Amino acid sequence: PYVVFTPYKRSWLEKKASEEDSRKDLPTFPSTKHLGRLCKDEFAEPPSLESMGFKESAYIFPDKEIDKIVIRQYEKKRDFPAEDGTSRLGVHLRFGTISIRSLVNQVSGLNAVFLSELIWREFYSQILSYFPKVVEHSFRSKYDQIPWINDAEEFAKWCDGMTGYPMVDAGMRQLNQTGYMHNRVRMITASFLTKHLLIDWRWGEAYFAKKLLDYDLASNNGGWQWAAGCGTDAAPYFRIFNPITQQKKFDPQGEYVRKWIPELDDLTYPEPIVDHKWARERCLQTYKSALS
Ligand code: FAD
Repeated sequence: PYVVFTPYKRSWLEKKASEEDSRKDLPTFPSTKHLGRLCKDEFAEPPSLESMGFKESAYIFPDKEIDKIVIRQYEKKRDFPAEDGTSRLGVHLRFGTISIRSLVNQVSGLNAVFLSELIWREFYSQILSYFPKVVEHSFRSKYDQIPWINDAEEFAKWCDGMTGYPMVDAGMRQLNQTGYMHNRVRMITASFLTKHLLIDWRWGEAYFAKKLLDYDLASNNGGWQWAAGCGTDAAPYFRIFNPITQQKKFDPQGEYVRKWIPELDDLTYPEPIVDHKWARERCLQTYKSALS
């Protein structure tokens, strides 16, 4: 199995191109046409969602049609959490209300960077399938030796968006209130938990699993292991996100942080729970001695 993304992606694209050629002469089977008949004639009426205990939620679900403007401008806007710059299709992929094949076909000619993100999803699926140990353990076994501090109070502050770092807090509050968090901010919050607070990535992974509407075991696990530095294509551990410079770069007008932290400029907003420079040094020392 591939354990590095770039060669996996190359091979994925080659395979897709060769399959497209060999499929040209095959008939297609428009099976969705028959779904209505299946439900009505041959089976009893399916039970209603209410009868199965589902209740309507207040969450707003994104449209499942792709927005071609968003896809075309994807790489220009996708890193700015205040913008509507990503597809929001994760939730549809997770629940199967859009199929990955149909999505790949729709976006293939439109934007290679967006397609690449779909290939990341596939990459993490195959990692999970070939290396099921990642559910419990670091992909790189050495990283299981890191002595996490796992301070429960600091963890609670992270969950509640009360760390005193606006970009982290805004992300956690967006997650808590909507079941979604922007990708750039997922990276920042995950890095902060594991590197600044030295809390086990599995704690953060479990919290995201509970809250994310687009939760997917393979992608969530892959994202967390990437952030903690223990995964496949891991960011080296000495590259530690600075939550303040990340905010300056990706939310320069403060639109995103103000949206989610209305009390940002008040005295009620907490002071940072750890000093960035100090936490960075502590992380470097901890990782270094655990891995040597
Ligand atoms: P878009 O940017 O529009 O991307 C389109 C689709 O491509 C996404 O819906 C997703 O299916 C796929 N994709 C994009 N980026 C990634 C990526 N880095 N890894 C894998 N697939 C990707 N994605 C999930 O689907 N479920 C998760 O539980 C999940 N947990 C994550 C946890 C962490 C710590 C991190 C750093 C990332 C995680 N991701 C997860 C990946 C990514 O953040 C989300 O897929 C993306 O934010 C969903 O928003 P979107 O649909 O607007 O994405």
